[in-house]
Amino acid sequence: METKELRIFVYEYKSVDELPAEDQKLVKIAREAAKNAYAPYSKFHVGAALLLENNEIFSGNNQENASFPVGLCAERVALFAAHAQYPESKIKTLVITASGSRQVLETPVSPCGSCRQVFTEFEHEQQEPMRIILASGRGKIFVFDNAENLLPLSFFSDQLKH
Ligand SMILES: [Zn+2]
Repeated sequence: METKELRIFVYEYKSVDELPAEDQKLVKIAREAAKNAYAPYSKFHVGAALLLENNEIFSGNNQENASFPVGLCAERVALFAAHAQYPESKIKTLVITASGSRQVLETPVSPCGSCRQVFTEFEHEQQEPMRIILASGRGKIFVFDNAENLLPLSFFSDQLKH
């Protein structure tokens, strides 16, 4: 038996102002998208924005439903919309942000496991890293160089062939 260590890397910024201008723009778009979330049940508004290599920007927000499992997370709304329109264009950067109903969040929002699985499949398919930026209403920001950092040992379709 051997003990292996898996490491992930995250860059922590004190605030959105420290990010490059292109990333700041995406955070702003994601925050705007969060305002239009359909979240009557959780009151937790999530917004996402992504930049494709063709310079198109897509945004999304959480879409809830009275039948809870039917709803979809903001980041998957944005990713699926982008992939539906530009299936060949690689995703360069994805921003996720959130705000609660009673207070502005100060810690970066973290994507659910299902979304992480979608990130890693798209990243695997495009064979180039997809940067992930986790933000909130204000405060620090987490930046990951690639989606794999958020889901080490991901399940890929390659494994279906065996
Ligand atoms: Zn999710």
